[in-house]
Amino acid sequence: MTNRIPLIAGNWKMNLDHMQAIALIQKLCWTLNDADHDYRAVEVAVFPPFTDLRSAQTLIDAEKFEIALGAQDISRHDSGAFTGEVSGAFLAKLACKFVLIGHSERRQCHSENNEVVQAKVAAAWKHGLVPIICVGETLEELETQGQSAVPVAQTIAALSGHETFGEFVIAYEPVWAIGTGKVATPQEAEDVSKAIRKAITEHFGAESGQSRILYGGSVKANNVAGFLASGEVDGVLVGGASLDAEEFAGISRFQKHIVL
Ligand code: PEP
Repeated sequence: MTNRIPLIAGNWKMNLDHMQAIALIQKLCWTLNDADHDYRAVEVAVFPPFTDLRSAQTLIDAEKFEIALGAQDISRHDSGAFTGEVSGAFLAKLACKFVLIGHSERRQCHSENNEVVQAKVAAAWKHGLVPIICVGETLEELETQGQSAVPVAQTIAALSGHETFGEFVIAYEPVWAIGTGKVATPQEAEDVSKAIRKAITEHFGAESGQSRILYGGSVKANNVAGFLASGEVDGVLVGGASLDAEEFAGISRFQKHIVL
């Protein structure tokens, strides 16, 4: 048993405008509240596009909803001539708690390497945000290097070289499982999670080793419980299925499928 509170995180990617965001958050929170969801026992967070964040924040605040808010990316810079980028200072002002960093779509489509990811982790901590650092191997890397090598190396790189350390979450997302319908087995997720935790503990100490490690990749309400049953995986990062309030609420209520 661990003291780590499971985290269910919904990455909406580039979906839903601010009006649609309001509707989805309302439906999600009403569904969870109707089911007496205990947000202190299972934390739930949504990651809408930047343009939705102000509306989401206003709604969550006004309705006293208990879900957390996060952004999908952060600039490594604080302010200045960086057209199109969004500062962590702005995200903090919108009551964002989390920020996704190094999602495979950003690594692949925006050439984000380990150095960029590391700088963004520093920016998140500087502005009081909790980075959710996404790591994972491609199919080719899986075949040539095995399952844990790349996610462990990406984790160490993201966390190395910082003068001060803050809270963080690691999301293990095999690239071949994102949006494909191909899912890692619970055993695979558990093995990689263990390898990441061992590496974090060795490099950054026992306290950091108690950070939450999530699994992501084609998670649905009907397969989530398998990942979380062993207690090695501390939550899930959900893409497609987080766009459906009932499905995402079902994922958040994974404990009803686990016989404790
Ligand atoms: C993701 O984008 O982080 C993700 C895991 O997507 P999906 O759940 O759709 O595979």
